[in-house]
Amino acid sequence: MQPTASHFVNGKYLEDTDGTPMPVIFPATGEEIAMVHAATPAVVEAALAAATAAQAEWAAMMGVERGRVLRRAADIMRERNQELSELETLDTGKPIQETLVADATSAADALEYFGGIAASLGGEHMQLGGDWAYTMRVPLGVCVGIGAWNYPTQIAAWKGAPALACGNTMIFKPSEQTPLCALKVAEILVEAGAPAGVYNVIQGAGEVGRALVEDPRTDKVSLTGSAATGKKVYASAAARMKHATMELGGKSPLVIFDDADLESAVSGAINANFYASGQVCSNGTRVFVQKGIKEDFLAQLKERTAKAVIGDPRDEATNFGPMVSEEQLAITCSYIEKGLEERARLVHGGKRIDRPGAYVEPTIFADVTDDMTIAREEIFGPVMSVLDFETEEEVVERANATDLGLSGAVFTADLTRAHRVVHAIDAGSLWINQYNLTPVEVPFGGMKGSGVGRENSRAAIEHYSQLKTVYVGMSPVEAAF
Ligand code: NAD
Repeated sequence: MQPTASHFVNGKYLEDTDGTPMPVIFPATGEEIAMVHAATPAVVEAALAAATAAQAEWAAMMGVERGRVLRRAADIMRERNQELSELETLDTGKPIQETLVADATSAADALEYFGGIAASLGGEHMQLGGDWAYTMRVPLGVCVGIGAWNYPTQIAAWKGAPALACGNTMIFKPSEQTPLCALKVAEILVEAGAPAGVYNVIQGAGEVGRALVEDPRTDKVSLTGSAATGKKVYASAAARMKHATMELGGKSPLVIFDDADLESAVSGAINANFYASGQVCSNGTRVFVQKGIKEDFLAQLKERTAKAVIGDPRDEATNFGPMVSEEQLAITCSYIEKGLEERARLVHGGKRIDRPGAYVEPTIFADVTDDMTIAREEIFGPVMSVLDFETEEEVVERANATDLGLSGAVFTADLTRAHRVVHAIDAGSLWINQYNLTPVEVPFGGMKGSGVGRENSRAAIEHYSQLKTVYVGMSPVEAAF
C-alpha cells in the first residue's frame, strides 16, 4: 500500500535520493516506517514544467469529462477506504476508528462534489439594450497546494478537487511530517484518468513550498497551516499578485448556556477538543460554561474523559491516539506547564503517558481566565480550557476578544438566543448544538487572522477560477469627433 517513491510528477512516481532524507515516523511507536526525500531543484522544476504543460489541455476538456475523472477517483477512494485509512493512521497516528470515517471518505466527498459541478461551471449573460455582454469563468492556471499534517488525505483532495474541476493543474506539497497520503491521491487521480501533470505531489519543508509560490509559472496558492506561516505565504503571493486561500489556525469559542442539553454539550466539548488528539484547526478550545451548570458540566466531562480508550491507533477500539510527533507533544506539554504555572485548575490529565510513542493524556483545565496563555494561544493538542461566564453580552464580547476567527459554537435550548449569539461571533464556521462537522456542501474557512478564502461548497469555485467579461457591440460605434 505504501507509495513507491517520494514524489509523483507528470503522471508517475519519481525519486531523487539527492534530496534531504525525511524519515517518516509512526507516532504511536516512534518506528521509522518509510523514508522519503525532499524535492531537489530538479524535482521542483519537473513538477512546474509538468503542471504548466498539462494545464491548457486539461482546461480545454469538457467540464463533464473533467468531472468524470474526479468522480471515478472518488469511487476508487471509497473502494480502498480501508487501506487508505490504515496509511493515514500510520502517517498521522490518528485512531483507525477516526480515519475510517473522516479522511479518505471526506476526500472522496470532495472529489464527487466538485466532479459533479465541473460541468455546470459557466458565466452569465447580460442584455444591455441592443448590446450585450457575457462572462466566462476561466481557470487560474497552475495552483500550489500546501498542507498541514493533521488531515493529509483530506487536505490534498479539498484543494485538488475544486482546482481540477475548474480546469487548473496543481502541485501539492504535503507537510514534511506526513508525506505519504497525498501521493495516493495523485496515484488514484491518474488511475481514474487524469492526464499526466494535472496533479503532482512533491515533498519538502517550507523552502520547497516557498519555491513553488515564488515561481512565476504558478498562479495561486492555497495553504493550510499556522497563522505565522500564513502571513509569510500570503505576503509572498501578494508580492506577485497571485490568488491566495489561507486556512490557518484558531482559538475558537464554544459557548454553553445553562439551558443546554448537558450530555450533548459535554459530547460537543469532547469532540471539539480531543478528536484527533486535539489536532484540529477548528477546535473549540475555549469552552465558556455558564456559571449555573459549571460543576455539573465538569463532573460529567471528567467522568466521560476518564473513559477514553487510549492505545494503539491501529486497534479499532482505540478512540484516543498519540500526537503526530515528539515535537508537537513537547509543545503541548509546555502549554500544560504554563496552565499550571498560571494557576488554572487541572481537572483531568496533564501528563505524558508512560508508553512508547507521542502520547499525552486528554487534559482539562477549569477556572481558566481570558488572560492565561492557554486561553490565548493555539495549542494544537488535547488541552481544553473551561472558562466561566454569567451573561450573554459578556460571553460574546469575550469570545470575540482574539485575533483569530476560524470557528465557534453555541449550545442552548433557546432558539433565538442561539442565532443571536452565532451572528455576533466573528468567525467563519459556526455550529448550533453541534461541533466540528464540516461536510463538503458547506463553506469552510476563517475570518480575521484565521485566513482568507473558503474551501468546499460552491464558494470554493470563486477561489479557483476568475471571470472574463466580454462586451459585445451590436451597432456601429459612435465617436465625439
Ligand atoms: P505549519 O504552518 O508549520 O506548516 C504548514 C505547511 O506550510 C507545511 O507544509 C510547511 O512545510 C509549509 N511551509 C512552512 N513555511 C513555508 C513557507 N515559508 N512557504 C511555503 N510553505 C511553507 O503548520 P503545521 O504545523 O503543519 O499545521 C498546524 C497548523 O495548521 C495549526 O495552526 C492549525 O490550526 C492549522 N490548520 C488549519 C486548518 C484550516 O483548515 N484552517 C486545517 C488544519 C490545520
